[in-house]
This record gives sequence, C-alpha cells and structure tokens, in this order.
Amino acid sequence: MSELKTVDPAVYGAIQAEQERQQNHLELIASENWTSLAVREAVGSVMTDKYAEGYPGRRYYGGCEQVDVVEELAKNRAKELFGAAHANVQPHAGAAANLAVYLTVLKPGDTILGLELSHGGHLTHGSPVSISGQLYHAEHYQVDPATEQIDLDMVREKARRVSPRIIVAGASSYPRTWDFAKFRAIADEVGALLMVDMAHFAGLVATGLHPDPVPYSDFVTSTTHKTLRGPRGGFILCPESWAKAIDKTVFPGLQGGPLMHAIAGKAVAFQEALSPAFRTYQEQVLANAKALARSLQDRGLRLVSGGTDNHLMLVDVKASGITGKEAQSRLADVGITVNKNTIPFDKEKPMVTSGIRIGTPQVTSRGLTESDMAEMADIIAGVVQADSRERFGDYASRVRDLARSHPLPGLRP
Ligand SMILES: *Cc1c(COP(=O)(O)O)cnc(C)c1O
Repeated sequence: MSELKTVDPAVYGAIQAEQERQQNHLELIASENWTSLAVREAVGSVMTDKYAEGYPGRRYYGGCEQVDVVEELAKNRAKELFGAAHANVQPHAGAAANLAVYLTVLKPGDTILGLELSHGGHLTHGSPVSISGQLYHAEHYQVDPATEQIDLDMVREKARRVSPRIIVAGASSYPRTWDFAKFRAIADEVGALLMVDMAHFAGLVATGLHPDPVPYSDFVTSTTHKTLRGPRGGFILCPESWAKAIDKTVFPGLQGGPLMHAIAGKAVAFQEALSPAFRTYQEQVLANAKALARSLQDRGLRLVSGGTDNHLMLVDVKASGITGKEAQSRLADVGITVNKNTIPFDKEKPMVTSGIRIGTPQVTSRGLTESDMAEMADIIAGVVQADSRERFGDYASRVRDLARSHPLPGLRP
C-alpha cells in the first residue's frame, strides 16, 4: 500500500478509511462478506493487465498461457464444488450472468416468471427498471399473505395462467429455502425452462446446507461475493447441452475481455469453498442466523415469515413503529450497517420501506458466534424500539466492544 500512498493519497486515504469502517462497524448487509487475503492477493495481481477474449485454448490474443491456467482452475473447481457439467466463470457480475441466460434462450417479448421484487425477488428477474423487464414480458409470483412464504400451488397456478418461457427461482431477500424439485415439476408441466439464481445462498448450496438446484435446473446463475465469500463477480452452471450456447452469449455476445484478476480470485475462492473449514463456516452462518432471529423475536420484534432457514432475516420494523429508512439510519448511528428493505405487501415506498434485511455471513467471517448474537439482538431491538435517540451512546460503545473483540481476519485492529 505504500506505493499507492505516495502516488495517490486521495484513493489511499479512502481505502484506509473504508478498512477502518469495516473493522469498527458490524456489517449485517446480507449480500456482503469478507474475502480472504489470498483472494485479494489474486484480485490485486498482474492478471488485471491481460487481454484474454475467448476461452482457454481458444483466445484471440497471444500470451494467454497463464490466464488459461487460472480460468481452467476456476472452471474445474466450480464444476467440482457444485457437481455441474459446465461452468462459465466470465460473467462480470450476477446481473450479467442472468442477462446471459436470458439472451441465450429468450426472444424479445417472451415471458419471464420470477418472484415479485417487493416479496424478495431481484431487479434482474423482470423489474421494469431492469433490461430484464424491458426486453421481455415479466410476470411475478408472490408469497402467501398468511405465511409470507412461497406457496408452490400459487406458483403453479400462475405458471399455468401466463405460460412463461422461463421460470426464475431464487431471491435476494427471502429468508426460507427453495424446493427446486417442485419448481422443476411446474416448469415441465407448462413447458418452461428453469433458471435458479442462487446469488445469495450459493455458499450454503456448496456445502450441502441448502437444497441443491443443479440437478433440477436448466441454468444456475450466481454471484461469487455473497455467502460464497469470493471476489465480486458472477458465474453460470448448466448441462453440457447448453454449454456452447451460453459460452457464445457471454463472449462475444455480451462481454468483451474477461476480468482475469477477478477470475483468479474466483479460482482461489472456489478452492477455499471446497475445504472442510468452509462447511464449518457455513454451519456457523446458519447457527448465527437462527440465534439472532430467535433473540430478536424474544425481544418483541416481528420477523417476516416468522423466522429464517438461511443466512438472512427480514425484520418488520413498522410493527415496532418506525420505517425501514429510520431503522437503517438509527442502526448506522450506533455502528451497525443494515439495509432498509421492502417486506411483502409493503405500504411504504421502496426508498422508505417497512423492513430491514439482516444477514450473518460477514460477522460470522470475523468470528462472532451465538452468544454474540444475543448481545447484537439486544442492541438492535433496543435501538429500533427506543422512543428517542438519546440513549444511543451506550449502544454505540457495546457495538464497538463487539467489533474490537472480533477483528477482521488479516487486518490489524
Ligand atoms: C445480488 C444478486 C444479483 C446481482 O448480482 P450483481 O453482482 O450485483 O450484479 C442477482 N440476483 C440475485 C438474486 C442477487 O441477490
């Protein structure tokens, strides 16, 4: 870092400050994590300098021997980790992976059926502000108003009514697991393809702690930087029958040169995910989420769907009398980072919302366990339920104590 400090003190300063922010705050954003030093070393390497349009052994540039090694490793490890026949590790992000699938199998105007955004779905599953909702006709299924969980009979009924070309399963703020066999049966019944977007729960799938979408899906898309704890990026898994078409869409259809430094980081992250320690980590992510959910409920907070089966939960803070926006801002004041989030059938605007989304992947990476979740729940509930912000100084020091006693691995406190 000393070179950067000399050459560009402004950027250096911001990076240092960001490092301190991450170190001193509790990051409960469900889509974030903490990469290993090995991953960051790969991402910060000379691999960023190399142009490598094409695929290993079939590049448009010379000098690709070493980037070929790295991309083959990333591909083979992804295939091994998820038991997939084919992997494309070039998508720059999760959104690009999803678009690549759509561009491969859909014509403009074809129907996509995905989970409603305000019920936990993602922008790339057919929102009108995303290309996925502009190029294609989007239809959405919702959660059951009573259970706030996905009801497969409702999905089936909707699929029969709108005859989608593709059904999308997966979400960014849904606290329960998915029954992919049932989604496959519905897709088969209506003659649709099935894409599973496991961006959020890929780390749980990799370790057998979430139902496996691979045997049931035509396509599985993902990010690498959420529960999977790799560098920022995306990838696609599919059977051999779709391999050629998907590869052609990603390049040259959608992207130019692959980000070889990111692919190097993905290779390292997949290797880490194959280790027994990664399974232990994911078990702790789940145990922490369960403990935090239970403690929040014990303190009187309402959780959407009544709890969690995965790494995240949605708190209905409106039931405690404040908006999601206010809750996010209050928690920021004491050093806890969360995001405001719509809850199913939310009456507030997306920039206000009635909920917050809380995830345990990042704090688990820094070593917090169940007993720390009780302390965290006490702080969160106290802040959300407070009449005024007066007593927040006390909460802020408790957050600081928790953060200080669990320094992020690889960083000096
Ligand atoms: C995060 C996420 C994405 C998008 O990933 P980016 O890397 O931000 O483009 C896509 N789908 C789901 C379900 C997500 O949670």
